[in-house]
Order: sequence, then C-alpha cells, then structure tokens
Amino acid sequence: MNIVIIGPQASGKGTQAEKLTKAYNLVHLEMGRVLRMISKEDTPIGKSIKELINKGILVSDEVIKQVMNKYLKRVSEMNSVIFDGFPRTLSQAMYLESFLSENGKKIDLVIYLALPQKITVERLNSRRVCEKCGAVFNLLTKPSRTKGFCDECGEKLIVREDETPQAISKRLKLFEKETQPVIKFYEKKGILERIDARLKIEEIFNEIIFRLKKRGLVSSE
Ligand code: AMP
Repeated sequence: MNIVIIGPQASGKGTQAEKLTKAYNLVHLEMGRVLRMISKEDTPIGKSIKELINKGILVSDEVIKQVMNKYLKRVSEMNSVIFDGFPRTLSQAMYLESFLSENGKKIDLVIYLALPQKITVERLNSRRVCEKCGAVFNLLTKPSRTKGFCDECGEKLIVREDETPQAISKRLKLFEKETQPVIKFYEKKGILERIDARLKIEEIFNEIIFRLKKRGLVSSE
C-alpha cells in the first residue's frame, strides 16, 4: 500500500504520517525534512536549497527529481511508503506516477487534510520545531510535555526560519497555485479522500483508518 498525504502547512500531515507509519509499518518519506537535511550541507545545492526554504519558495522540480531519484531507487524495493510533502506540483505528481508504474507499483490512496487558511496561519504561528532532531510541536494542538523542549531528544524548540509572516503567506499562495492542481488530479483518478484537519489528532487518525478499511486497503478487523 502506497499513500500520499497532502495538505497545507500545519494541517497535521507529519503527525498523521508518523502514526500511520507506526500502525502499518510504512516507510515515511518526508520531503521537507530531507531537504532541510541537505540544506545543512556546505555544498552549492545545500546552500541554494536553504535560501529557497527560508524564503518559503518551492525547490525546483529538477532538484526534487534529483533528490527523489536517490530515494525512489530505494523505494522501488519497498512496498509500503507514505509520501509526505511530495508531490507538491503536477510535474512532481507525473514523475511519481511514471516512476511507480515502471516498477509495477502505484499510489493506492491520497489523504487530503483540508484546513481553512485562517486556521492554517494561526497554527503556523504557534508551531515549534526541535533544533536538533526536527520533531514538530504546536503550542495549540500538540504541545511538548516540557514547555520549550523536545519530547524526543530534550533539545530546545525554535520557530522555523520559514515561519515568518512573509514566508507563511508565500507558502500558502504556492499551495493554492501549485498543489491544488495535484489534489484535483488525484480526485479525478478517484483515489482521494478528503478529511477535515480541524478535528483532533486522534479523530483524524480514526477517520483515516476508516477510509483505508472502506477501500479494502487494510483489514477491517
Ligand atoms: P515543509 O516542511 O513540508 O513545509 O517544507 C518546507 C520547505 O521545503 C517548503 O516550503 C519548500 O521550500 C521545500 N519543499 C518541501 N517539499 C517540497 C516539494 N515537494 N517541492 C518543492 N519544494 C519542497
């Protein structure tokens, strides 16, 4: 079973992807985290990715394809992947389609976590990430147990550089322009499930499981 999880920033994609990964033994491929790792490298590609991320601009499809070529080679041996933060443009979606079909695989389900813009902005303003391990928390929806420190590794939590009001607004515009067509594409294929991301974390998770069962992708026992 291969899944794409898609939604605006702070819709809870990463949280749900992690829960699904644990529940169904999936491989979690989180593009934002992969790119942030590369951006720490002192290489021309690392530096250019860092600049784009900090400005809230999408990394070019060409670079994403290079990164994915590296990962998808490994993915071709895996059966159960959850793609998080990818594809974000139609061209990336086409690339993923052709790669999977060449390897006799496909996307079985696309989970779209829908969130009104006003709430997206509120949530982004209260998002905190771990400087060291990248774990994500939210003062409103998913606070850490010790205020200001990571539950996973104990490091300090910070505001991401691309979560300034200017970068947030740019990222949301890009979601509308570039990612909404991807959502329409999967909707037309009949593999999209839309879920209200305003629900609580557990409610969203139960809803996802309900849709997976409904489509016969996991056993209903
Ligand atoms: P995220 O953590 O998913 O919000 O991603 C952070 C940033 O990484 C985005 O604002 C983009 O600059 C970049 N990024 C992540 N995924 C992609 C993608 N599939 N295509 C292009 N840029 C991406």
